[in-house]
Amino acid sequence: MQMGNAMYPPAAAMKRYPMERYSDPGLALFDLATHYVVECPKCAGKALVKPKEEGHKLVCTACFHTEMPGHWYGAATAYVSVKCRECHHPMQRSTPWNGLWKKLAMRCEQCGDECEYEAHITRHAQHGGRMTDAVYGLPLWLQAEFREELFWAFHYEHLEILEHYIAAKHRERGIAPRNTIKKNSAMLSRLPAFITRAGNREALLKLIKELSVK
Ligand SMILES: [Zn+2]
Ligand SMILES: [Zn+2]
Repeated sequence: MQMGNAMYPPAAAMKRYPMERYSDPGLALFDLATHYVVECPKCAGKALVKPKEEGHKLVCTACFHTEMPGHWYGAATAYVSVKCRECHHPMQRSTPWNGLWKKLAMRCEQCGDECEYEAHITRHAQHGGRMTDAVYGLPLWLQAEFREELFWAFHYEHLEILEHYIAAKHRERGIAPRNTIKKNSAMLSRLPAFITRAGNREALLKLIKELSVK
């Protein structure tokens, strides 16, 4: 899905706002999760995860590796909760998932029956302490530790939105003030406290500048 202009103001339009004000365009984080800048799985260089008609495609800007979705590089948990096929004894098991198999071997403690059962896979947003994209589970390119917190952005436009927000001294929320649903789901109203803390403003803006040229 492409970003519609209605919900995504172009950078040029945002620059018209004086830095003292910031009018939240009402973006939910979901609206931003259309594409990503990630670490290439082959060379660890900068790769782009671009939206395609049917899903996404990864293209590395350094080694030109391309990859269609399929393999999950991130962290995930496989979970089975079933009744034994022989004796109906309830069984549960959860284990880290490696991105390949979908079935989990189970042994019934009551009757000793052994069988593989279909697992539910939960994909995690973080892997090894780093934020990952939702398609491949690769580390986001634009992230850094900040005073024991993790600062991250899906892509450069996301970074720019955060920069404008943090730079603003007075924040106005919502272009349509009566749209309370949109207000509540807005990404900016749910930012972690360290991003909105006034005392972090200068240091965060410096970090964003560094990331923006990465
Ligand atoms: Zn690469
Ligand atoms: Zn059994």
